[in-house]
Amino acid sequence: MIIDTHVHLDDERYKDDLDEVLNRAREGGVGRFIIPGADPKNLKRAVEIAQNNSDVYFAIGVHPYDMDAFDALEFEKYINHPKCVAIGECGLDYFRLDGTDEAKDIEKKRQKEIFIAQIELAKKYKKPLIVHIRDASRDSKEILLNYNAAEVGGVLHCYNADEELLSLANDGFYFGIGGVLTFSNAKKLLHVLPKIPHDKLLIETDGPYLTPSPHRGERNEPFYTTFVAKKISELLEIPLEKIENITSQNALRLFDIS
Ligand SMILES: [Zn+2]
Ligand SMILES: [Zn+2]
Repeated sequence: MIIDTHVHLDDERYKDDLDEVLNRAREGGVGRFIIPGADPKNLKRAVEIAQNNSDVYFAIGVHPYDMDAFDALEFEKYINHPKCVAIGECGLDYFRLDGTDEAKDIEKKRQKEIFIAQIELAKKYKKPLIVHIRDASRDSKEILLNYNAAEVGGVLHCYNADEELLSLANDGFYFGIGGVLTFSNAKKLLHVLPKIPHDKLLIETDGPYLTPSPHRGERNEPFYTTFVAKKISELLEIPLEKIENITSQNALRLFDIS
């Protein structure tokens, strides 16, 4: 079994054929799906999908791009839902910062505040974190350590695949490997992958984004985790079945699902 630990099934690009998307993945061996929170306006949809499908779970959070929509009180309504397995995706994303240096600093400061607020929620409700990091490895790591996120642990998106983040494996953090691994320019991730402890490896699509080869340019979907699993197996020279096993066990443990 493969577990897609990060797929935005609540995205409107799945609206018309969600059941087919899920069934294709299930037939390919994907046994569980986790919908991260990103834009809170989709939260109700995510909860509904999780309620209608026994193998789908959700997380509550705001992506740094949607941080103005953060509302802790609204989140707390859903946090004790039996299928809410994590807080996130939250984190820092400096990729799209623009304007003057001053404007960038204000934006960074705001991103940090919302990230920290979500770490506090995770600790209060004892849920792991789904952390989105892009072009912000140093600041993200500093916040995770300073605010004792190790109490709950979580998963990091391997956007920049920074070696700098690897030590967080010792603080209960897992590494979500996705379609980027199959890109021909994934040099950094190829270099970092063998250094990730096996008991901290997870598979994700981040669908509908970041579609793996040979489907780049199309909508991403959870079935494509099978390409990611194959690629990990090739690169680490570990049999595919074992990769599926290890990563699934890791996901079940981190998100406390069965
Ligand atoms: Zn993300
Ligand atoms: Zn995402």
